Amino acid sequence: NRIPIASPVRTAAIVNRYYVHAKKNLGQNFLVDLDAVQGIVRAAGVQAGDQVIEVGPGIGSLTEQLLLAGGKVAAYEVDQTLPEILANELPEKINGQDRDECFKLIMKDVLKADFHADLDGFFDLTKPVKVVANLPYYITTPIIFNLLEADLDFTSLTLMMQKEVAERLAAQPGSKAYGPLSIAVQTRMSVDLALEVGHGSFMPQPKVDSAVVVLRPLKEQVEVGDRKQFDRVVKLCFAQRRKTLANNLKALVPAKEDREKLLAGLDLDPRQRPEQLAIADFIKISRAINEMNK
Ligand code: SAM
Repeated sequence: NRIPIASPVRTAAIVNRYYVHAKKNLGQNFLVDLDAVQGIVRAAGVQAGDQVIEVGPGIGSLTEQLLLAGGKVAAYEVDQTLPEILANELPEKINGQDRDECFKLIMKDVLKADFHADLDGFFDLTKPVKVVANLPYYITTPIIFNLLEADLDFTSLTLMMQKEVAERLAAQPGSKAYGPLSIAVQTRMSVDLALEVGHGSFMPQPKVDSAVVVLRPLKEQVEVGDRKQFDRVVKLCFAQRRKTLANNLKALVPAKEDREKLLAGLDLDPRQRPEQLAIADFIKISRAINEMNK
């Protein structure tokens, strides 16, 4: 019957006891809203025995609920003042298990993680893992790309981030938020917006609202061809959002004739704005430019 860490009273008690100053430069905004935290755990579908990687446990608000849901949690953290707090404040026994059996703190920048080496002996990496995190917002996109590139079998990534970034991840063609980030992620993962969380759910309160996104590996791979080339084409197509496709393509295909021929061959209207194009269109353009350069 302990009061959860994810509650204003318990968080205030921890803050007072350890003189915690939330570090802005580390993106520290602690969740003090049990409903929101349990919403994240539910969105991730964490069940007994699930292997969960958490980024940034902070003082343990989300960690505690992940453990209570039966997750086996490995958490990356960089703030050296937190191990003592987590050791004292997380429950010592969880669902009858000693904490050491189901929780491992890895004091390391998650961007420098070597997941196989770090998790060896704690996780069985022949089995899938889930990532669940209230991310440090200042490095949201590098963390997402690092995870996407990681050689791990993910069931899902359930990530809380700034609402605007969540909207960009989920955006569909025709919307303002649609752009290179939407395309880079959606060619690898499905994106679902699970819940929105207002700034009042945090301590200290951030200026922005937040949202939780669930990313899952696509059932069918999207073949983009040469990934580097594809990313470059997408980036350049969006270099000036308000200009036409033909205009943006100048950087890649300098001769007007060539551009017109390329787009006509793909049945694409050169006057369209980049945000009107489906992912499949960018794949076609990237492939065609590759062919042209052969
Ligand atoms: N999970 C806690 C919660 O929900 O209350 C804290 C979330 S807070 C938004 C982000 C956490 O990420 C902080 O604890 C911060 O110290 C940690 N962090 C910041 N940069 C990090 C990095 N490069 N690698 C791992 N953790 C980091």
